[in-house]
Parts: sequence; C-alpha cells; structure tokens
Amino acid sequence: MEDLDLDVLIIGAGPIGIACALECKKRNLNYVVLEKGALTNSLFTYPLNMTFFSTSEKLEIDNIPFISNNPKPTRNEALEYYRRVSTSNTLNINLYETVIEVNKTPTGFKIKSDKSLYNAKKIIIATGFYDIPNLLNIEGEDLPKVFHYYKEAHPFTLQDIAVVGASNSSVDAALEIYRKGGNVTMIVRGDAIGERVKYWVKPDILNRIEEGSIKAYFNSEIKEIKPSEIIIKTPKGEKTIANDYVIALTGYRPNFKFLENAGIEFSTDRKSIPNYNPETMESNVKGLYLAGVICGGKETHKWFIENSRIHAKMITNHITQTI
Ligand SMILES: Cc1cc2nc3c(=O)[nH]c(=O)nc-3n(C[C@H](O)[C@H](O)[C@H](O)COP(=O)(O)OP(=O)(O)OC[C@H]3O[C@@H](n4cnc5c(N)ncnc54)[C@H](O)[C@@H]3O)c2cc1C
Repeated sequence: MEDLDLDVLIIGAGPIGIACALECKKRNLNYVVLEKGALTNSLFTYPLNMTFFSTSEKLEIDNIPFISNNPKPTRNEALEYYRRVSTSNTLNINLYETVIEVNKTPTGFKIKSDKSLYNAKKIIIATGFYDIPNLLNIEGEDLPKVFHYYKEAHPFTLQDIAVVGASNSSVDAALEIYRKGGNVTMIVRGDAIGERVKYWVKPDILNRIEEGSIKAYFNSEIKEIKPSEIIIKTPKGEKTIANDYVIALTGYRPNFKFLENAGIEFSTDRKSIPNYNPETMESNVKGLYLAGVICGGKETHKWFIENSRIHAKMITNHITQTI
C-alpha cells in the first residue's frame, strides 16, 4: 500500500467519469480514476444486442466524434468509442480497483481502495446506479433461475420465461426472447406498458400482447417463485403458471450507504436526491462533487449520458477556481 497525493480522485470510469478525466487532463490537474470493474462497466453489462435511444453525437464527450453505422449506436459501438477515447488520450484509469471509503481531512480527502490509499484535494463521485438491483423481496428470489440483469436470449429458447417490469429493458428482453423461441409472460405492476418505452418499440410489444404471442398480466405481481412454477397475484385472483426462468428488470439504485458514509445528505422525500449545488455539482461536503446519473438519487431516469456529460466541465471549472 502506498499513499498517493492527487489534485482530483474520480470514482467510476463510466462515460461521465471518463469525461471528468478528460477535463482534468486538459487543465493539467494531477488526477486518477478508480474503477471497480472493466472500463464503462455498466455499458459492458448491458444486453449484448442493445441499441441506445440516443443518437451517437449525443453520447460524445469533449466533442470527440462518435461515428456509428446507424444514427443510434449499439452497445459494441459505444464500448469501442469510450475505449478509444480513454486509450488514445492516455487517461490515468486504474481498473478493477474498488473504492471502499472516502474520509474528509482538514486539507482534502483520504481515500481507501481495496488496493491502495490516496490523498486528494478534491473527489468526484461518478459511480452510477447499475450495481444494485431493486429486489422483488419475495420467496424464491434467491433461486439460481432468477436474474436481475439480462444479457441475451439464446439460453431461454424453448423455455417458460417470466419477465417482470414494463420498462425499456423489460420490453426489449421480452421481445428478443419471444423471437428466439422462448415462451414469454410479462408481469407488470402497473396497468400498461411503460410511458418511456422507445416510441419505435412500443407498437411492437403492444401488438405481440394483443395477438397473444407474449402473455401479459397487468396490475399483477409475482407472489412466490418455485423451482418449476411461479404464483402470480392478479386482479382476478392468484394464478400458478409453469416457469423455467424469471428475469426481474425492476430497476436499480445508487449505493446510498457509500454516499452517506462520505457525508452526503439526501432529500427526505421518496426520491432521495443527493444534496449538491446545481451550478457547480459540489455536494454538501466541500470539495466532493457528484457527476452523472448518481445525481438523480432514486430517480434513475432523470440523468443519463446525454444530459449529464456537461457535469465534467462544470465540476472542473469550479475545481480550477478553488484548488
Ligand atoms: C439498457 C440501457 C440503455 C440506455 N440507453 C441510454 C441512451 O440511449 N442514452 C443515454 O444518454 N443514456 C442511456 N442509458 C443510461 C446511461 O447508460 C447511464 O446514464 C450512464 O451509464 C451513466 O454514466 P455514469 O458514468 O454516470 O455511470 P455508469 O456508467 O453507471 O458508471 C459508473 C461506474 O462506477 C463504477 N463504480 C461504482 N462503484 C464504485 C466504487 N465503489 N469504486 C470504483 N468504481 C465504482 C461502476 O463499476 C461503473 O463503471 C441507458 C441505460 C440502460 C440501462
């Protein structure tokens, strides 16, 4: 273990952490990014065949052109883009290093990772929300046939699949598995497919449900998951159906414990929005900044790459004025 002295320590090498690193480099700040997984680990975890809802220029950072084959890029194209941006700019990124603790000191911060100790004058937390799924909290959720992330359809061919949720992720998974020969049932807590489902995908899912190719239970919840069936609470009473796999795509949440331990305060309503200055992105802890989707608290749809990439410039402008 060694103690390194830095101007800025950035936690998370997602698109926004990388954008912050580019800005630090341009301003000759001594910085490092610590990332617990692979580069852009959340994007790496996304479904293999996903297409972004944003066009590629809206995902660009620091105006570095993002060229994709079609207007809306795929996961692979996005991985290629952020990889090339990071390597060709020789950004200081330590992968597979998890930040465990951030402590304020009189002159800045002491940071403990699972590999080293650091001192930094300023901290940027850009840790996203994709690591902690919202659980169903029902019996059987711990069975190995239950997934909270979806990668690809092939393993689900000729299987009885329950997809929980009605957001973009659930709808994409349901359609893809149906088209690869899975028998899909959607279990939806609300009374309709989600409002934010991509406008070009919505007619597809509505038509598949209407024609009965994909079954859907609205105003319904899974009550219990058993090895070869599930019990669903529906408005017409309980129903037991055959089931091989449950794919519960019910959203994710930021690591609130980690943020609280760093001293960050949250709104007391159900949104749990972290306390930060919207002009500088500095949190209630002086010298500690928040960037990217994490700024939305439980409102995980509020910030995304398109609208939060500007955080990098806002933060580094303030850092250079105050360091
Ligand atoms: C299926 C899907 C499709 C999407 N499509 C779009 C789209 O079309 N357009 C758009 O703008 N947005 C889209 N989004 C949202 C977008 O991907 C996120 O907004 C984006 O990833 C946010 O970037 P970020 O850098 O804030 O967080 P993330 O990309 O989540 O990065 C956070 C990083 O921090 C790391 N980390 C976490 N904790 C620690 C720790 N303790 N120590 C070290 N590292 C840590 C994580 O491993 C991760 O790599 C989509 C999201 C999903 C799920």
